[in-house]
Amino acid sequence: RAKRMGKGKACFFNPEMDADAQDRRKLETELREAVERDEIDLAYQPIFSARTGQITSAEALARWTHPDRGPIRPDIFISVAEECGLIDRLGEQLLRRACCAAQSWPDHVRVAVNLSPLQFHSGRLIETVRRAIDSSGIRANRLQLEVTEGLVIQDVDRTFQQLEELRALGIQVLIDDFGVGYSSLSCFQRFPFDKVKIDKSFVDEIATSRTAKAIVQAVVGLGSALGMGVVAEGIETEEQMRLLIEGGCTHLQGYLLSKPVSAHVFQQMLARPHNFGIKATRAA
Ligand code: C2E
Ligand code: MG
Ligand code: MG
Ligand code: MG
Repeated sequence: RAKRMGKGKACFFNPEMDADAQDRRKLETELREAVERDEIDLAYQPIFSARTGQITSAEALARWTHPDRGPIRPDIFISVAEECGLIDRLGEQLLRRACCAAQSWPDHVRVAVNLSPLQFHSGRLIETVRRAIDSSGIRANRLQLEVTEGLVIQDVDRTFQQLEELRALGIQVLIDDFGVGYSSLSCFQRFPFDKVKIDKSFVDEIATSRTAKAIVQAVVGLGSALGMGVVAEGIETEEQMRLLIEGGCTHLQGYLLSKPVSAHVFQQMLARPHNFGIKATRAA
């Protein structure tokens, strides 16, 4: 029906919009079922020490393969989960799954889990995290939580208080996608993040833009002054990697080094350590 109306007929109650809304509701229902059946999986993307070239952690990234539509991008289904009140339940499942996976890795390898800002609203996050850690048997310091600046939009005091409580448990807290959106340096005054993840957009341009390079330099300077590690995400070329290592980033992540892989493949990578040429790049 929407097709027959043709494109470009923009009125408010447009049948295409109706079709979109129906599509969205269908996706919601299917996501709800997938969450109920615990079908949302995690891929693990290794993160490397810029100094030694060894794997120090993995970022857990949500994966949903829809029965008909195939893989759905996490930014899409996470925002569906946020909108339809599923995010706490899904977030808890993913935390448990990630901690459980980390349980079978060597003790020095951490797992980083992304949190939605909405997970700070219920007041039950600390308990959820604590239970995920306890039932997996990992030590709290093996878990890293990645948060974005979006989390301080609502009730700043309560949010920072929860971050403090998480940190008091021994968990590391990272600020993700730093430098885009409503980045504010004042968040460092409120909370001592363990690491900063420089947004991929700066990494993308580091070899071609003086500004991007200067921004990376500024974040590295901030990191070293405040005792925070600096992770560069989304590294795709040798040149980007070289500039980021020279620039003083402490950790490296990106398709150049490894794409996100299944839990099984990640374990195999841990069993056969290799430094992906990071050291060689450094010595060169
Ligand atoms: P993010 O947390 O910034 O995660 C990094 C994203 O960049 C991942 O995309 C990763 O696959 C991708 N990436 C890493 N290296 C490269 C590279 O070299 N090139 C390119 N083109 N991409 C690279 P992904 O898995 O599609 O996730 C997208 C976003 O969805 C994440 O961004 C995060 O905001 C959200 N997300 C994923 N999993 C979860 C989750 O379990 N919970 C929550 N709340 N959000 C999640
Ligand atoms: Mg992340
Ligand atoms: Mg990120
Ligand atoms: Mg990102």
